[in-house]
Amino acid sequence: MYSLADLNPVQREAVEHRDGPLLILAGAGSGKTRVLTYRIAHLVARGVAPWSILAITFTNKAAKEMRQRVETLLGSAGAGLWVSTFHSACVRILRREIDHLSGYARSFVIYDTGDQLSVLKSCLKELDLDEKKFPARGISAKISDWKNRLCQVQDAEGQAAEYFEEMAAKAYRLYQKKLMANNALDFDDIIMLTVELFRQNPTVLDYYRDRFRYILVDEYQDTNHAQYTLVNLLAARYRNLCVVGDDDQAVYGWRGADVQNILAFERDYPEAVVLKLEQNYRSTKHILQAANAVVRHNLDRKAKSLWTENLSGDLLIHYAAEDERDEARYVAERIRRLKDREGRPNKDFAVLYRSNAQSRILEEYLLREGIPYRVVSGMKFYERMEIKDILAYLRVLHNPADRVSFSRILNVPKRGLGESVLAKVLLYAEEQGLDMLAALREAEYIPGLRPQAREALLSLSRLLEELREQSLEGKITDLVEEILDKTDYWTMLKADNTPEAQARVENLQEFLSVTAEYDAKIPEERDEQAAEEGNRPAAGTASGSLAEAEDRLGPGAEDRPGTQAGGTFLTGGEDRIVSGTGDTASAGAEDRPIPEAGGDFPAEEEDGPALVIDDFSAGVGGFLEQVALVADIDQLNEGDDGVVLMTMHSAKGLEFPVVFLVGMEEGIFPSSHSLLAEAALEEERRLCYVALTRAKEKIYLCCASRRLLYGHIQSNLPSRFFSEVPPELMLDRDPIDPPPRRQGRMGGAVRGGGFAGTSGHGRSKNRDDGSLASAGTPLATGKSETYHVGDKVEHEKFGRGIIVSVKGEGASAILTVAFSGQLKQLISEYAKLTRF
Ligand code: ATP
Ligand code: MG
Repeated sequence: MYSLADLNPVQREAVEHRDGPLLILAGAGSGKTRVLTYRIAHLVARGVAPWSILAITFTNKAAKEMRQRVETLLGSAGAGLWVSTFHSACVRILRREIDHLSGYARSFVIYDTGDQLSVLKSCLKELDLDEKKFPARGISAKISDWKNRLCQVQDAEGQAAEYFEEMAAKAYRLYQKKLMANNALDFDDIIMLTVELFRQNPTVLDYYRDRFRYILVDEYQDTNHAQYTLVNLLAARYRNLCVVGDDDQAVYGWRGADVQNILAFERDYPEAVVLKLEQNYRSTKHILQAANAVVRHNLDRKAKSLWTENLSGDLLIHYAAEDERDEARYVAERIRRLKDREGRPNKDFAVLYRSNAQSRILEEYLLREGIPYRVVSGMKFYERMEIKDILAYLRVLHNPADRVSFSRILNVPKRGLGESVLAKVLLYAEEQGLDMLAALREAEYIPGLRPQAREALLSLSRLLEELREQSLEGKITDLVEEILDKTDYWTMLKADNTPEAQARVENLQEFLSVTAEYDAKIPEERDEQAAEEGNRPAAGTASGSLAEAEDRLGPGAEDRPGTQAGGTFLTGGEDRIVSGTGDTASAGAEDRPIPEAGGDFPAEEEDGPALVIDDFSAGVGGFLEQVALVADIDQLNEGDDGVVLMTMHSAKGLEFPVVFLVGMEEGIFPSSHSLLAEAALEEERRLCYVALTRAKEKIYLCCASRRLLYGHIQSNLPSRFFSEVPPELMLDRDPIDPPPRRQGRMGGAVRGGGFAGTSGHGRSKNRDDGSLASAGTPLATGKSETYHVGDKVEHEKFGRGIIVSVKGEGASAILTVAFSGQLKQLISEYAKLTRF
């Protein structure tokens, strides 16, 4: 249940604001997302039909939470609400409408990054472009950038200013052609094509404009041009657009997001009501002060004040590790200790890093400590070879036009069908205008094949036909088992008696639990769909179009109409998809029939868009969509009690009682490619602000003086962000630890005290500033301090720094100190360090 009394006056004003554009630009933890949730509930409570509300959240998790809250409040009256990410909303629209765009069919598949790259590589090969000069990833990024800016092939060709871009535009043209031939969309197409669909088909646009009278968008600062255009096209008629965001949390510039979209809202909607939220409810005073102090170093920002009534809380804790192992050990050991001392559950903890590669070592140490954890990351489960193989089978069965998947499975398991056979089959299909299954059926007519190859192709054809029959009915789990069995995939793995093969078997077993979970949901959704069919105010042309669709798509087009992935993805830093948890418990829920009493939904006009038979996406299609779209972030299941490991990007919008930021080193965070450009560096600093503001109670900041990452050892300076946190807010030692044993008690300091004066000998080996030209003879000193790793010290010439290693003890100890921008070795005695 919600009550407006749970809100402060400005939040309440935002929730109660009914019609017209509304902008909330406010700092972290000030309740923006809460306002959106309450606003939806409040709109529905006041009689706005749920299906006329479109809420766009940044993650599926947020979508799910919002839906649940509204459902708690309103029960089934909230059904029909669309709360999803940009991608999942657009997939739903495209599943219904994409055939308005010539060349696309509603059974499209969605290619992930790996698929995209393999298509692109074949384009580069065909264009005879040298991969060294035109790396597929670079070209892929360029194409993605064009798509995010809604630059179609011809626009890209027109705009290409230099040779690389010209070639990239050429590749773009061929790439799109191939995607279309495979009836496939990449991630960026999903948004771009929806915009194109609306632009080319005013009646379709009209329909959705009328439908979505209230639009709400969270994290608006991270919309790119395509997403911005989409929202504004849809909102143009009713102008009931509510956007919330924080320019200080704009962290997707590298992926085409444009913070100007939120900053220019008042220009786009001059009548907009603008509200500011200034009270933070999430974090302690110390955490908030630190975050505010860091982000203030950015020059390009709108100043805002953010305060909290929360307690001051603990100070931030800094740990300077020797290497990545020491850092991981520290994190695992701290978690163990806090759990023991404070009785915290695992899910109170999050470990955030700049890039996914950093998770491996943390996992190792958490395992050692026996602490359950979940890695929220892209590219894991579904990137594995065996999983991709099985998915490729499913894709071919679902969409026989998919050449990329066909190429993957042709000789897996081995059937003696090599590259040259593949080339011949592909060519034949191309020439005859056939899909891959049809081409296989005609293997006898494919020129240039040896008899064994021909026989193998025909036998594969028979197998796939049989599987395809089965794919039209029955459960995905049974189908996958049949595939593994009949293709001899199991046999292949079992014959290979290596631990690796064993791991693959386990992964496939895990995959079967994903399919089982999916299957378990189907009957319910089928009912919902059927009910929606009955209620849908749509589709004058339903039966005609159904027949047409069947014609066009052949058997299987009548796949149960149905479910959509509950929401989408695109959360993480560099990685995109994944996710195996089948977190689609809510899939379809939003599609439930709209009660008659619902209200003001416009009656469909005769010539309205043909919203026929809904989607082809249940069954195999629906399952594949879930796999393609479900976000990495969606592995975060509230019920599971595990420490969460994720990138700082993925953590946006979330909150945890205790947060560890690891790898806070120059070149890692801020990342090396941000070091040269001020704008990129400011984006990293915003990411630091995001990361710091995820913490409610405690935060640990860690760096390592050596790190093995990406296969080589790096020695990085501590991140500049350390020096941007006011020193009085940060401790070098966790107060929960017993005080360190002073070395003096062991004799070190005493010895230091015993050295009298300086002889000057050996001094010549040292520079005047105390830095070490070569290891000098330890010299006596009057009274020397005992330093520890992590101590913060100030040097006359180098300024403030952090001690990252101590060798030896007392006056002669050799200290390695990381000053801003440089690492220095100093002899304790000469360094004339003061603490700060
Ligand atoms: P971010 O910028 O990180 O996305 P946000 O502005 O969306 O943050 P929320 O996540 O909505 O902030 O809220 C932060 C926390 O504060 C949540 O736990 C929320 O429940 C709580 N909160 C927000 N407003 C209030 C309020 N008026 N009273 C009590 N708690 C509140
Ligand atoms: Mg939020």
